[in-house]
Amino acid sequence: GGDFNQKIDYVFKVVLIGDSAVGKSQLLARFSRNQFSLDSKATIGVEFQTKTLVIDNKTVKAQIWDTAGQESKRLFRVEGNAIAIAVELLGQARPESNMTMPDRLRSPGAVYRAVTSAYYRGAVGAMLVYDMTKRQSFDNMARWLEELRGHADKNIVVMLIGNKCDLGSLRAVPTEDAQEFAQRENLFFMETSALESTNVETAFLTILTEIYRIIS
Ligand code: GDP
Ligand code: MG
Repeated sequence: GGDFNQKIDYVFKVVLIGDSAVGKSQLLARFSRNQFSLDSKATIGVEFQTKTLVIDNKTVKAQIWDTAGQESKRLFRVEGNAIAIAVELLGQARPESNMTMPDRLRSPGAVYRAVTSAYYRGAVGAMLVYDMTKRQSFDNMARWLEELRGHADKNIVVMLIGNKCDLGSLRAVPTEDAQEFAQRENLFFMETSALESTNVETAFLTILTEIYRIIS
């Protein structure tokens, strides 16, 4: 509802990760605004959306972070804006147009590392998303998990998401393969469709409820 004075009991930061074009931004659009777009633009930099919900009579604000799935895009070719966003993420004052780059952000690698660590900082949940019609995006999950485990809190709740289950005839990742990976790595697992709205709400509610269970 439109109650802006609503008391928030918890804010949970959840990050979306996975290769480009697997549907991270559309899963977020579906969950936060119940929208979907077939000609979704590649995400540039880092964005987040919030959605407030009630779990166990507590008001939980989910802050879902979304980024480009590729290092080159997350760096957005290190144009001025990249530095500005990196500086904002690092918690410094809103940069001015005449801002000079801090010394520690002078190289593209340093900007990438700063953005990546800010992205994961404070996250209590992560959704590792692959496209079930693209085997490579599933095979890359191990690398995404490695980046996550290298940056995030060790108690982070992680869910593996096989998106685009509406494209069943093009399936390239059997459910059992994903289940096995999830079991081995101790992840929750769900197949979703942002297009058809299948399991999107359930996936977010499951991860948020599990975070709530751990934190409360
Ligand atoms: P991102 O790069 O991971 O953020 O991917 P996007 O959310 O931008 O989606 C990439 C493309 O896949 C877009 O054309 C979307 O419309 C499409 N897409 C996303 N989710 C689904 C889905 O569940 N089913 C189908 N068929 N297409 C999807
Ligand atoms: Mg995106």
